[in-house]
Amino acid sequence: MSTLLSVEEVQKFILARTTPLLWEKVTLQDARHRVVACHVVTDVAIPSFTNSAVDGYAVRWIDLAHATPELPVVLSEHGAVMAGDSAAWELPAGSAARVMTGAQLPIGADAMVMVEDVNKYPVSDGSVRVEFTDSVVAGQHMRFKGEDIEAGQVAIPAGTVIRSGEVALLAAVGCTLPTVFRRPRVALFSTGDEIVTAEQGILPPQGRLRNSNLPVLLALAADAGAEVVVARHLPDDYDSIKDAMLDALSAATRPDLIVAAGGVSMGERDYVRAVMEELGALSLWRVAMKPGKPVAFGETTGTLFFGLPGNPVSVQVTWEVFVRPALRLMCGYSDVFRRQVTAILEEDVPHKPGRREFVRVRVRDDGGTWRATTTGPQGSGFLRSMVGANGLAIVPEQNGNVTAGNALSTMLLEA
Ligand code: AMP
Ligand code: MG
Repeated sequence: MSTLLSVEEVQKFILARTTPLLWEKVTLQDARHRVVACHVVTDVAIPSFTNSAVDGYAVRWIDLAHATPELPVVLSEHGAVMAGDSAAWELPAGSAARVMTGAQLPIGADAMVMVEDVNKYPVSDGSVRVEFTDSVVAGQHMRFKGEDIEAGQVAIPAGTVIRSGEVALLAAVGCTLPTVFRRPRVALFSTGDEIVTAEQGILPPQGRLRNSNLPVLLALAADAGAEVVVARHLPDDYDSIKDAMLDALSAATRPDLIVAAGGVSMGERDYVRAVMEELGALSLWRVAMKPGKPVAFGETTGTLFFGLPGNPVSVQVTWEVFVRPALRLMCGYSDVFRRQVTAILEEDVPHKPGRREFVRVRVRDDGGTWRATTTGPQGSGFLRSMVGANGLAIVPEQNGNVTAGNALSTMLLEA
């Protein structure tokens, strides 16, 4: 029996052979969750002109220097500036101009007073007087040109993940087609003569079962930001598997990553590794982890190739541990691994020393302490163990049984 490789060795090996993909330009609508590939420099200052932060009156602060509630200062209203207007005129001393939020202040005005804080009244000559009961400081309620970002500065550095806040700034600096790392194209294959497609809608005949791996691979690929170019089920037949791989590899949309689930172990009709070996270099295949011992990895010019175990839970766990980090790296993310927290187990977890175990748990933040409960029986074929699981608690290789109250590092699947 060949020796088992550690999870870290295998992750390191895989990531050393993975690089961020080339760049492409996307619309702001398509930019969310993508990673900025080169610095976005702003061509304007933000704000691009000094403006009012409130609806109110633009004043010269010196005019109100002595205003108090007992001795208010009265100024005459002079002019108005609505949002979008230019205000290239001078505010006469002793007067106040109506200025709306986001609008320019007239020349000479150096503070704003909120409309709620003044009393205004008409006088007999048809003009309006405005009464101020407080002094102001210069710059009050104003937003200054370049206060957010100066023109020519980096608005968004390369490596930033675009979320809604970044979309707003990209739009403001006129970058409507940001340059981002391309999404990885993936080809997904499930395998096995025992599998019937769910679409058949009938009860599977004796000895056969519905395909859960292909749907879960599609879901996992979408979650990881990949673009699925092929999704097929394959029989346990060497030539069919090889032809399907060759078809995918020769397509115009050649995948950056191929995943085949099932057929990688020691079964008499497990052909995936042999096909991988024929098409490219097969790098490794047995990992000291549970579930998911048989994991194959290979490369053929520009395409990474993963052979995951077919057990419905193993496929999901090995995807999390090996495939997702590679996809994240391709997408340009610097944090390719799931966030881990230390969680207190709320029940005993049996474990035989030897392989690192990924226990499916529900984990919650209990006032600053993370607590984890298993999702039930942990067999690698128990689909229910992944239902509602938002974490994988990691039992170290050398550990024996873990008793309730002990802490385990736990990968958060939703963070
Ligand atoms: P394998 O890795 O091909 O030996 O498969 C291991 C186990 O996973 C077997 O019990 C298979 O029936 C099951 N399995 C393989 N592929 C699928 C699939 N696509 N959907 C559901 N179960 C599967
Ligand atoms: Mg099989």
